[in-house]
Amino acid sequence: MSRILELSASELVSKIRTQEITAEEYVNKCYERIKEVEDRIHAFITLTENIALEKAQEIDSRIRKNEKVGSLSGVAVAIKDNICINDVRTTCASKMLENFISPYNATVIERLKSQDAILIGKTNMDEFAMGTSTEHSQFGPTHNPLDLDRVPGGSSGGSAASVAALETTISLGSDTGGSVRCPASFCGIVGMKPTYGLISRYGLIAYANSLEQISPIARNVADLVLLTECIAGQDNKDSTSIDSGTQNLKNCLVDDVSGVKIGVPEELFGIGTDEVVSKAVWEAISKLEGLGATFSKIKLESLEYALASYYIIAMSEASSNLARYDGLRYGLRLDDENYDWSTAYSRNRDVGFGAEVKRRIMLGTFALSAGYYNEYYLKAQRVRTLIKQELSKAFKDFDLIIGPTMPILPFRLGEKLLDPLEMYMCDVDTVIANLAGIPAISVPCSSSQGLPIGVQMMAPALREDVLIKVAFSLEQHLKPDLELKV
Ligand code: GLN
Repeated sequence: MSRILELSASELVSKIRTQEITAEEYVNKCYERIKEVEDRIHAFITLTENIALEKAQEIDSRIRKNEKVGSLSGVAVAIKDNICINDVRTTCASKMLENFISPYNATVIERLKSQDAILIGKTNMDEFAMGTSTEHSQFGPTHNPLDLDRVPGGSSGGSAASVAALETTISLGSDTGGSVRCPASFCGIVGMKPTYGLISRYGLIAYANSLEQISPIARNVADLVLLTECIAGQDNKDSTSIDSGTQNLKNCLVDDVSGVKIGVPEELFGIGTDEVVSKAVWEAISKLEGLGATFSKIKLESLEYALASYYIIAMSEASSNLARYDGLRYGLRLDDENYDWSTAYSRNRDVGFGAEVKRRIMLGTFALSAGYYNEYYLKAQRVRTLIKQELSKAFKDFDLIIGPTMPILPFRLGEKLLDPLEMYMCDVDTVIANLAGIPAISVPCSSSQGLPIGVQMMAPALREDVLIKVAFSLEQHLKPDLELKV
């Protein structure tokens, strides 16, 4: 494997700019690596080799002519297959969209292109981003590059596995209830769900609009910042996007946590949390204390209800979002001339959607139906408000909140596939930040039997700077022992 692939995004940008290496040479190496490992990892659904090579040649030629190039010039970015790229297939890992070619670019794609990033391919995911393991992909699962018998996490499993396996340098996922932090944690890399609204969702195929954000994944905190700064910012095409003001995240890449006040809620270490995970997270907290931060154990009682509230809200929104896939206007259309519209509609949806998506549409429709709306959807929204309030109160005393990203180690393929509730339980610590709309990051902090453990930090809305500062320090002081198996 070529050393070029191990370079960080910022090293690549500077080496490509100074013509020490060419973007074309680097992109070719990425595809060589992809061809070498994909039969074992399966991180990608579609490769965009022609677009990537053409862009690489264009960047090299502009550099040779001394023209200005963007902040990500020449860096390969893998894109989760629910983010639209013009003229490229966007499947959401579903049979429903198997042949959908997007007629437009998501805003994040426009921004990446304007900063001269290279779009390397579309990555595998749980169907419509519903899952925690990438096993719900209708194109087959992704494997964890640190242990091929285990899941990479999900739903952005392909985006995380491709970065961890050195098939690309950075990637984008989406995080509705943990889908970037979970696979980052399971693959031993860094993932951050930003504040709701920080990154435009225009061109992200919706699962649950009020919860999700397009989110960056990288092998180190500095690369994550480079990618975030490229895609963040208000966008007229997404009315929920916000003006993030003057957060300069690059300035936060300093190893200094003195005076940072940390709250550690006991609810984040609840029943079902693996002891090795708790121990690793507490070691990370002690490390921060040794570096000058202070911590207190706290109680945030509403967090106990976060998972139930999340699944009701997410499924309700999903059932409404997915109603458009009827095979008449959107999605898979079977050869159904002989059927009336309602039978054709049912048949298209029966064949187009996988079992987990159907389960969620049914549960979401139930939660929203007259007679049950107050008992489920409204109650879940009330709990969501309580969680937000309790967190804002805690943030009066603390700069950030720490706990595990995932309560358990990466599990084996198939281990939780037959028990949906067991799969949902894995999201117990990640869904909180989505309900509250606050930023959260996962950073590798330790390992057990060669498997990675991630620590999760949450901060108040628009305080990504605090997360980045503390994540950067942890990265300098904790180097988990991990080994690629490809
Ligand atoms: N695992 C969670 C779910 O299935 C989160 C998914 C996501 O963040 N897209 O809903």
